[in-house]
This record gives sequence, C-alpha cells and structure tokens, in this order.
Amino acid sequence: MSRTRSISQEILVHFASKIPEKLSSKWTRFVCVSDTHNKIDRDKYQVPNGDVFRKYLTSISLQKKFLILMIFNTVVHAGDMTGLGKVEQVRDTVNWIKNLPHKYKVIIAGNHDLTLDETFYEKNWNRFHYNKEDPKEAINIIKNAGNGVVYLNEESFTIPDKGIQIWGSPWTPEFYEWAFNGQRGQCLKEKWGQIPQTTHILMTHGPPYNILDKTHHSGENVGCEDLLERIKVIKPYVHIFGHIHEAYGVLEKTWESTDQDRKKTIFINASTTTIEYEPENAAVVFDYPPTHPL
Ligand code: 5GP
Ligand code: MN
Ligand code: MN
Ligand code: MN
Repeated sequence: MSRTRSISQEILVHFASKIPEKLSSKWTRFVCVSDTHNKIDRDKYQVPNGDVFRKYLTSISLQKKFLILMIFNTVVHAGDMTGLGKVEQVRDTVNWIKNLPHKYKVIIAGNHDLTLDETFYEKNWNRFHYNKEDPKEAINIIKNAGNGVVYLNEESFTIPDKGIQIWGSPWTPEFYEWAFNGQRGQCLKEKWGQIPQTTHILMTHGPPYNILDKTHHSGENVGCEDLLERIKVIKPYVHIFGHIHEAYGVLEKTWESTDQDRKKTIFINASTTTIEYEPENAAVVFDYPPTHPL
C-alpha cells in the first residue's frame, strides 16, 4: 500500500501548558497522563482537549462546529491509575477519565492497580488491604466503562477511521512484588514478544532501559532491558509510559537503520505525579499526522 508523505508529517510534541494552534481536523491529538494514583483534583488539573478549537467554536458559525467535532482527540493513561487498586479507587479514576471530552480514552493498568491483576490479587491481597476487594468488580468497572474508554491488557486497539494501532501492557520488572510484576529475562521477554510489529503507538506502564528511567533514590536506570530489545525491532512512532515518576519528560531517539520505514521513536514518560505523589506534571500532548510518519 502506498502512502503519500511529506516533510511536514512529523509527530509534534507539546506540553499542556503551551499548545500551539496548528492542528487541523485531519491530525489526531493525543493527551498523555500517567500515575495519577487518585491524586487528581478534577477542578484543578487540566487535561487539554484541543482547547484552541473549542475557543474557535464559540466565535464562529454552526457550520464549522461540525468540522470541529470531527477532531479525534484521544487521552491515554499509562497505568497506576489508583493508589492501591481498591474498587472505589478504580471507580473514581474511571469516572474522571470517562467524563473527559475526548473521543477515546485508552488506558492500561500499573503495579499499583492491584485488583486488576486478579491472579496476583487473589494470592496477595492481605499484604495490601485490610478487607478483600472484589477484583472482578474492579475489572468490570473498567471494561464496561463505555464513553470511549478502551482498556488494554496486552492487546491492541486501532483508532477507527484513522488506522493508528495502539498496543498496551501493564507489566513492569519485579520490584517488591506488586501487581503485573515479571522477572527480568525470559518472563518479560515473552510478554514483549507479543507486541505486534505493526504497532504505531506503544503503551507500557514502565520505561525501557536507559530511557527516562533514572530513579531519584539510587540514580540507577531501572527500565526494562527486554523491552528495549523489542522496541529496537518494532520502532514504534511513539512509546508512552510512566512508573518512574521522577523521570517525567520526552526524549526522541533516531534509529540507525537503512530502512525507509520508522526512522525514530518519541519516548514520553507521562508521569503526572511527582516522586512525592503530587499531581504537578502537565499532561504531554502530541499531534499525530494524517498519514503515518516515516
Ligand atoms: P510506583 O510505586 O508508583 O510504581 O513507583 C514510584 C517510585 O518508585 C518511582 O518513581 C521510583 O522512584 C520507584 N521505583 C519504581 N519501580 C522501581 C524499580 O524497579 N527500581 C527502583 N530502584 N525504583 C523503582
Ligand atoms: Mn506510580
Ligand atoms: Mn509504590
Ligand atoms: Mn508504577
């Protein structure tokens, strides 16, 4: 299949505090948050939704309103959506996310979302909770949220009419035996082996090794080596994660390759809360061009 490409078809990354007005309705705007840990005050924390166009909307005719509604804004959440995965905490986060004005809300779990890892929770619940929660109820809240909420647990979602393929996974390398923790080496390697080669946007809770993965405590890079190896093969256009709160930021990596396809990956550590679990980091926004970039 041939696609037309031009030099302007680059993914553009912005921080929520300053989003430019250049998006056309053919682009897809993604708004990334992560590690919100039930710390979001809905009235204070701004999740941008192409505000520019909404401003535009109020000052022009109804005719244009239709065009504006066609913008495919998507919000993504890269896990640790709760403090400790209690049913009420899951409900609280899902209610917040599902009521955002974005068309799709693509979310994954993280190591703190304990009940969403049902097998883990059945064995370990009393390490974390005084009373046992019902993991099935928590999972149902997410799966049946509706209103554009898409929950990815080692699976893909392709944005309808856009063909942008997103794959998401909650797994991270073992650290104090939390939910969705896997041993470095064989276990995680098999997990990452499932990521389809065709993935355009990858979402995992944790970073790959040596990319926005430096911990404040020890200064170590604690990202997953096996994930990095898989990423070198797939070269997704964007990789969104969180987990290492203090490594919030964006990094672009150009691949040494003679291929015509997939020349670089933009890595986004979207951790919304800081190392003190304060929701101080702005959502990271990127605009995905009408055709896939190089
Ligand atoms: P969380 O508990 O929210 O998953 O992670 C919170 C913090 O724990 C991170 O910001 C990071 O400082 C630390 N942390 C998480 N995973 C690891 C890990 O695998 N190794 C180390 N050394 N620290 C981690
Ligand atoms: Mn976290
Ligand atoms: Mn923790
Ligand atoms: Mn985490």
